[in-house]
Amino acid sequence: MPAKPVGMYDFVVVGVGPAGARFARRAAESGFDVLALEKGTVGTPLACSGHVSTDIWNYVPDEARETLFQNRIYGANFHTGGPTTDAHLFYKTEEVSNVIDRVQLDRTLADCARRAGADVREDHTVTAVDERRDHVAVTASIAGEEGTQTFETQMVAGCDGPVSRVRQAAGLPEPDEKLHGVLAFTEEVDHTDHVDVHLTVPQFFAWRIPRGEAGVEYGLAAPPGGDVTERFERLTESYGVETDRFCSGAIPIGPPDSVTTDRVFLIGDAAGQTKPFTGGGILYGMTAADCAARHIDPRRPASLDVYESAWRQTLSTEIRMGQLIRRAYSLPESVQRLGLSALAGEIGVHMDKPSSFFSKTHLKRLFS
Ligand SMILES: Cc1cc2nc3c(=O)[nH]c(=O)nc-3n(C[C@H](O)[C@H](O)[C@H](O)COP(=O)(O)OP(=O)(O)OC[C@H]3O[C@@H](n4cnc5c(N)ncnc54)[C@H](O)[C@@H]3O)c2cc1C
Repeated sequence: MPAKPVGMYDFVVVGVGPAGARFARRAAESGFDVLALEKGTVGTPLACSGHVSTDIWNYVPDEARETLFQNRIYGANFHTGGPTTDAHLFYKTEEVSNVIDRVQLDRTLADCARRAGADVREDHTVTAVDERRDHVAVTASIAGEEGTQTFETQMVAGCDGPVSRVRQAAGLPEPDEKLHGVLAFTEEVDHTDHVDVHLTVPQFFAWRIPRGEAGVEYGLAAPPGGDVTERFERLTESYGVETDRFCSGAIPIGPPDSVTTDRVFLIGDAAGQTKPFTGGGILYGMTAADCAARHIDPRRPASLDVYESAWRQTLSTEIRMGQLIRRAYSLPESVQRLGLSALAGEIGVHMDKPSSFFSKTHLKRLFS
């Protein structure tokens, strides 16, 4: 194999969210030259609840736990209407999930990448990705500087979120749909251990998340073009609260048929690697990042095919099962109420593995 020219990176990673930071860390640990470019400051602007399964702790150093942790969650109260309607509690006797500080999560993951040897640069907005036969040229503008800088690399990891410039530049297909998510906070201190889910939004849901000392979060996601902001106002009115720090972002659902070209590959939201029934993508993105780091060799474009099938093998059954669960959000209210009454109670489901809902053991327990 020909030697890599001096000054050429093995990987340029575009975007330093969870997927980009995790891939940068893993690739640097394998000895590759990694440059990771983030358009702003890592972790900002916030557009995420940071509600994750306890698997998150496998991805951060133990000492980060104290800074990141906000609350532990054992279950969810499902309502077919607002907060005063009947609640159907689904719970586990051990923790289902944790609520964490998402801004600090991104910073922690970026620090892990830096410590592993990746060159992580903030204030670098990638403006062009030009894929050539034997390398890729990545152009970025740098905040506060005139002109642009171009970096040469063997491969590019597009980890630049739901509205991915890399995906567009590489001519890769879009995810099936993009929901519009919004959220905001109050300062109520709330250490209760369940979230509230309201099936009052077309094709998705609204939520209330207690975040311990960090307040309470109210949010919802819905197909774009709908009256998302109005619906959000109705939600907070129904709870009788005034929120601040309003955030908004896109949630891709349904990965495209291909997330790789010869020298460019996508990870995380850019690749639509999210849970269709919650919109959560932090853990799926980092799982796929580990697949990418395990299988991709920057000197061998053919290794991208291995990544493409490996991540699908790991996540596509869960994504399909998640799509099935999501269909229940669109059932008539009377059917939802019947289903929730019949199924509520203790459940044995892993938050990131909807297949566990359909497992023989779980179904037997539900219907016994
Ligand atoms: C309202 C809402 C609530 C959510 N709640 C949860 C939740 O509770 N749990 C969960 O698991 N998931 C949740 N998600 C989804 C979660 O936020 C994403 O799945 C996750 O952030 C995806 O990580 P990522 O690294 O792929 O992309 P991102 O986190 O979006 O990171 C992409 C990075 O790329 C950078 N970037 C973009 N363009 C460029 C460019 N041209 N040049 C350089 N850098 C660029 C961005 O600044 C960003 O830092 C929520 C999403 C929304 C919208």
